[in-house]
Amino acid sequence: MARDIVIWPHKVLTTPTQPVTDFGENLTTLLDEMFEALKKAEGIGIAANQVGVPLRCSWVGREDGTFFEIINPQILERSGDVTLEEGCLSVPDQFAPTPRFHKVKVKYQDRTGAWHEVEAEGKLAHVFQHEIGHLDGQVFVELLAPLKRSLIREKMLKLQKTLGRRKKSGE
Ligand SMILES: [Zn+2]
Repeated sequence: MARDIVIWPHKVLTTPTQPVTDFGENLTTLLDEMFEALKKAEGIGIAANQVGVPLRCSWVGREDGTFFEIINPQILERSGDVTLEEGCLSVPDQFAPTPRFHKVKVKYQDRTGAWHEVEAEGKLAHVFQHEIGHLDGQVFVELLAPLKRSLIREKMLKLQKTLGRRKKSGE
């Protein structure tokens, strides 16, 4: 079953996640559930804490429309400043130019525990930074100017109230 996506601000989104140590069936199930939530929301990436699970794993979308999982990722190198229009499944319908790096070198494990190292630029580098940010407890709105951030925060608090009401009435 697809899990619900947690809306920012929420503690699970602003707290760094714990490393994955068990590469067994539980991880496979979690990744499957995250992938369902990602497809349902038509996103290009999703982190475990976005479905309420504080573990260091995410799905990352490639430019060709395919996806792969990253587990215990680390950014090894960053270069080139760029500002990109960014949004997030946990901050629905809000987009803002956000400062990022053009290129990153990332080390991560796959679901079997095998390590990989990739250099990415452009869109893929952007998704890596966004997802690894989530795992570090950082949502993109933290990178925006304080005024912009508080405007988005107000909107999200209202949205949380609406969604809470809907849930109660069983809509
Ligand atoms: Zn996000």
